[in-house]
Amino acid sequence: MPRIHKLSEALADRIAAGEVVDRPASVVKELVENSLDAGAARIEVELREGGRKLIVVVDNGVGMEREDALLALERFATSKISDADDLHHIETMGFRGEALPSIAAVSRLRLLTRPPEADEGTLVVVEGGEVKQVEPVGCSVGTRVEVADLFYNTPARRKFLSSVNTERGHCHEGVLRLALARPDVAFKLSHDGAVLLATTGKGDLLSVLAAAYGSATARQFVPVHFEAEGFSVEGYISGPRLMRATRQHQFFFVNTRFVRSRSLSHALTQAYGNLLPVTRQPVCALHLRLSPEDVDPNVHPTKIEVRLASEGLVHDLMVRAVRRALEAAGLRAQPVESMREDREQEPLEAAGRYSLGSRLRVSPVADKLDVRDDGIGVYAHPTRFSEPREVRPQERESLRLTPSDESRSDTPTALAQVGLRYIVAMIGKELLFIDQHRAAERVLLEKLRAVERPAKQFLTLPQTLELTPSQAAAVAEHSELLADMGFDVERFGPRGWLLRAVPAGLEYGAPEQALVELLDELAEWQAPASQEARAEQARAMVACHAAIKAGQRLSKEQMQRLVEDLLATSSPAVCPHGDPIILTLSDEDLDRRFERPVR
Ligand code: ADP
Ligand code: MG
Repeated sequence: MPRIHKLSEALADRIAAGEVVDRPASVVKELVENSLDAGAARIEVELREGGRKLIVVVDNGVGMEREDALLALERFATSKISDADDLHHIETMGFRGEALPSIAAVSRLRLLTRPPEADEGTLVVVEGGEVKQVEPVGCSVGTRVEVADLFYNTPARRKFLSSVNTERGHCHEGVLRLALARPDVAFKLSHDGAVLLATTGKGDLLSVLAAAYGSATARQFVPVHFEAEGFSVEGYISGPRLMRATRQHQFFFVNTRFVRSRSLSHALTQAYGNLLPVTRQPVCALHLRLSPEDVDPNVHPTKIEVRLASEGLVHDLMVRAVRRALEAAGLRAQPVESMREDREQEPLEAAGRYSLGSRLRVSPVADKLDVRDDGIGVYAHPTRFSEPREVRPQERESLRLTPSDESRSDTPTALAQVGLRYIVAMIGKELLFIDQHRAAERVLLEKLRAVERPAKQFLTLPQTLELTPSQAAAVAEHSELLADMGFDVERFGPRGWLLRAVPAGLEYGAPEQALVELLDELAEWQAPASQEARAEQARAMVACHAAIKAGQRLSKEQMQRLVEDLLATSSPAVCPHGDPIILTLSDEDLDRRFERPVR
């Protein structure tokens, strides 16, 4: 590796500036990236108290001579670029020469390092940016950086650190990204002595996914290999049974650098088309290779966003790559956009009424999507209203289903399920079209509101779960809330969890699925300050994730019960999000449709 030197002021000025150290996870990221740049094949990360107390990163990379070890701690000292031209083809993770000095300035740092050719190593001790001690030591080849008491000298920033669990979750997520970026490097992450992640370094991305998500989940990934026009993408995407509530589990790497990219996420969504349930997101770990000239990582201080020279082209190639992979796995996606266009051209214009009394028109109630026999894979976009579908807040709760006089005494009869997501029912002389998910959500929410604390319903067979770092952090952080809602989750082995109980009185298709989705949402939840608001939001989240989903086949009895329960709620017409639950079609509507004079 070239020796370290200070960048000229002019060059330093051209580098995207900004704070790189804001929490333990960013320290971990910077240190591990340095280890990767040093050619390490093995990297171990140890944390204490979420990294607030101690972060140790040990590698077996090239190490540093005494002189370099000291220079490395100065601002804008780097071995990775030397002139402005180098900024156009950056192939290392770091290049700004800012991380080590920034970290050293706000912690007690010890650096032990030894290059392979040296007989002994060097120890440098820094406190709040001041070098306190430099001396030769015996140590193994490579570098060990210990960062203790982060922000000890900047109390305001220390105060902004979150709980141990949250910080640990962020660190875990960060190391996972790097481990997925570099399956050829063996990573080990431990926290207060417990191993959170360990990869083999044998170069197999699927084995890293298995280490992170468990082997059962890893088996549900579909491989992607694609090459065209100087672009290649390799990796794994989730099959239709493995979907998450957020995009947090989409790992994109551009030339091994983890990036967040709306454009790439969008390409993924577009490629899945109608394979994607409306509210779900695919999981992926995809490596894109582009010529370094086409990628500019120098736009964001932590380099989490990069600029791609031909973003549109990359987007389109990504869509093709994912679509082809899905097809190879027997999953044929239909683009959602074009289905929507088709639908708009359809002459059929049902004159339905929304929640008796309001005058909204609906597009065809049953659209013509293919639903596979086993019910998986082909969920569709909900039927959209062609007239304003907004319901004003004050209207929401006041909308009531008020059947006409003739039908008042009637109980509803569930007739059929359409497209595995709507229930057709009859009440009096009216046909009801009910969105099964929204209906179930409304029913559940009212059940939860009706009791102070839902009772626990113990599962006959406790379910084992494998949780991701952030889901596990959400369990810890919201343990009280989960218990209050009636969930009983506990640790089971190093990575496993056991779900013992769920809120009683709720109907679950898959309780573990409901919990995992809930945890994904809790992980990103900004809890309101007021106790009451918090409880209500928690109830709404539980109701949403525990509710019957679109795509779930229902028996006649289940439909009947759901319709009856729905009509017994205080507000059956709109779901907790304000979306309509019921569309109706009366005999008079049919008269109009058949152009029969209205009586
Ligand atoms: P940058 O990575 O942007 O160059 P840093 O402040 O992170 O800046 O590191 C400064 C320099 O210290 C690096 O350029 C590298 O030469 C050296 N260095 C840092 N960490 C290590 C390590 N783990 N092994 C070997 N060299 C390292
Ligand atoms: Mg660096």
